[in-house]
Amino acid sequence: MDNSEQRINKLIFRLRGNGLRITPQRLSIIKIILGNKNHLSVDEIFEKVKRNFPMIGLATVYKTISLLKEMGEISEINFHNQGARYDGSGEPPHPHVICSMCNTVEDLDNLTDIGGTYIDKFTKKINDRTRYQINTYRMDFFGICPKCQIENNQ
Ligand SMILES: [Zn+2]
Ligand SMILES: [Zn+2]
Repeated sequence: MDNSEQRINKLIFRLRGNGLRITPQRLSIIKIILGNKNHLSVDEIFEKVKRNFPMIGLATVYKTISLLKEMGEISEINFHNQGARYDGSGEPPHPHVICSMCNTVEDLDNLTDIGGTYIDKFTKKINDRTRYQINTYRMDFFGICPKCQIENNQ
């Protein structure tokens, strides 16, 4: 059993504990979000789940997403020019790089080499200065991804 399968099983256990019925549709949505590294939009999640459940409604997708959000299982990345995207990695908060042409969202993994500890120090400074108890952060870097750079130079 790999990590993501374990995570899904734990999550199902928690959902049942909250009195929630796990329908096959709901389970399918959960698996799509948690098993995906691509920061999917609601529409993309909807398209994927429709392959197995053609009759599913968008409302079910929205409901399941907001439930996972409330439970802290996924995080939302908002854009001013399009809808939200969802990070189901279960990772602690992390910076993203975002292409402003194709809207690709990528994780900045393994930040230690470019200053992961710097972010921790920075957060602590903000704690000290504002006396807020900072428990999460968002950091987005916008630019043009390598693929779009090539496509737009031709
Ligand atoms: Zn791009
Ligand atoms: Zn991410």
